[in-house]
Amino acid sequence: MNLNTASHPENIKRLSVKPVNARRNRQPLYAPRKKVFPRRTEGRFRRFKWIVMLITLGIYYLAPWIRWDRGPYAPDQAILIDLSSRRFFFFFIEIWPQEFYYVAGLLVMAGFGLFLVTSAVGRAWCGYACPQTVWVDLFLVVERAIEGDRNARMKLDAGPMSFAKLRKRVVKHSTWLLIGVVTGGAWIFYFADAPSLLVSLFTGRAPAAAYTTVAILTATTYVLGGLMREQVCTYMCPWPRIQGAMLDENSLVVTYNDWRGEQRSRHAKKAQVKGLPVGDCVDCNAC
Ligand code: SF4
Repeated sequence: MNLNTASHPENIKRLSVKPVNARRNRQPLYAPRKKVFPRRTEGRFRRFKWIVMLITLGIYYLAPWIRWDRGPYAPDQAILIDLSSRRFFFFFIEIWPQEFYYVAGLLVMAGFGLFLVTSAVGRAWCGYACPQTVWVDLFLVVERAIEGDRNARMKLDAGPMSFAKLRKRVVKHSTWLLIGVVTGGAWIFYFADAPSLLVSLFTGRAPAAAYTTVAILTATTYVLGGLMREQVCTYMCPWPRIQGAMLDENSLVVTYNDWRGEQRSRHAKKAQVKGLPVGDCVDCNAC
């Protein structure tokens, strides 16, 4: 064996270099999650949000139970997606597959409506009507009812595990799962006669697809609305990326402008009197 070849380990020139891509030097791809503990708020916009929440959830859960008489040999459910006979019933409207372009047209109009609303009044969709917002809000109502408002929840979260904490957590997660089951259950009622499907669900005679759909929607509602919450908006939803193109400085958005908010101080008013720089965001100091 020839020890003089350049490739022999003893002939390789060693330089003092540092690995630039060592695991310890790598920056994490995602910022660590900071838990958000929203406090209960009052006011005109919050009242409006409660109303929107009641209407949207009311429509979603109750619409399949509305009856609509179409005469003999036709389903009497007002809103029904009848996959077996390939028809969509919406009160007095009946849409066949070859007429689906009406639905496509409606979806396009809804898309343009969303763009218009966003350009005119900012993130109204995200703030009030997006299903993620509505269900997170509902889950927060449950959380607040069981664990208390912001300070109590923060204290509970930071405290050690105890019987009281465990009991609250079990009750909260069970209620969230129950909401998930009801949400998944409501979805399948749009695809079959709701009263008969409800009976067959409880008697074990419903099709496997019905149970599977309820299970999947239970899991997604629980995970997205209860566990992930704002992470869905930050990492998963494409809408904020599109929305950015429709907003400008004058748009109404709930965001934090550091050029307006800093310097934050618990004693902002005193600092202001002394002529020290104080941000506009001086009233709450909770963020
Ligand atoms: S960012 Fe996406 S998921 Fe979040 S509220 Fe807006 S539309 Fe809904």
